[in-house]
Amino acid sequence: MSPLCFSMESDFIAWLRDRLPPHPQLRLGPGDDAAILRLSDRAECVVTVDLLTDGVDFDLAAIDVLRAGRKALAVNLSDLAAMAAKPVAAVIALALPRQGGQQLAVELYEGLIPLAERYTTAIAGGDTNSWDGPLVISVTAIGEVTARGPLLRSGANPGDRIIVTGNFGGSILGKHFDFDPRVEEALLLNERYALHAGIDCSDGLSLDLSRIAAESGCGAAIDLARLPVSASAHKLAAAKVARRSAADSASRSDALQSALGDGEDFELILAVPRDDAQRMISEQPLAPLPLTDIGQFVAEPGLWQTTADGRRQPLPIRGYEHEFD
Ligand SMILES: [Mg+2]
Repeated sequence: MSPLCFSMESDFIAWLRDRLPPHPQLRLGPGDDAAILRLSDRAECVVTVDLLTDGVDFDLAAIDVLRAGRKALAVNLSDLAAMAAKPVAAVIALALPRQGGQQLAVELYEGLIPLAERYTTAIAGGDTNSWDGPLVISVTAIGEVTARGPLLRSGANPGDRIIVTGNFGGSILGKHFDFDPRVEEALLLNERYALHAGIDCSDGLSLDLSRIAAESGCGAAIDLARLPVSASAHKLAAAKVARRSAADSASRSDALQSALGDGEDFELILAVPRDDAQRMISEQPLAPLPLTDIGQFVAEPGLWQTTADGRRQPLPIRGYEHEFD
């Protein structure tokens, strides 16, 4: 066990046990070798993990560690939402910088705990080390599948409509930290409608949509005119236009590109059979959060845009992928 900025790890765990709210499904939380969670007999369990590093996923020189802590849990809850799973618990691993690590750990948890409480997610345990590098946060979240079953990426059929929650683009202006994971929304939609496939938009609408299509062995065609472009995407585009004093039309195109490729919108992208999609769009069960039909899955693999005259053209896939060699 590595030395800690709390003089002992046990001190930190004692603080944590005192700080963490109780949870009805947590039989045994931090302090033992493993957590014990109560699951009903036939319940399925979903587990997801994300790693966030200072200097890569956030920059502590520019943002508060509370927001980084909140985000580390929120991205995992968003992945549970993408599976239409109900959050149950999360475990949190930290690599703390030796200098100032104790304060960072406390503030990080203070950012994360309110979100955990809001989504009734037990913080069931974790591991806390220190090192000479930057802050690294790893969150593992565990979710329970409902009677309607999990939502996979692989179930889209040609002819299914592409339905998205919310608006896209420009998340860098704030939403990438302060977004609400679409957990209740995913559960509600999975309960009321037939959903064939789903993903949360973390790396860019065009990239994440192409992932559903690829997993489902089909393609996807977006009607760009229907894309719900966020106010932030328009704001970014307007700033760009002002900088290069170009024509207004460039602003619409920049905003669209932003919506297609910026990522970290953490909205849901769903494949929905036509009848259910129609019902969903007319009922708007998530209002005031909009549900928008942006196109359809097609037999031809790849990503396409549907032009105003109904023709199909290839659409370049834009988005964020970690690179390494
Ligand atoms: Mg995801």
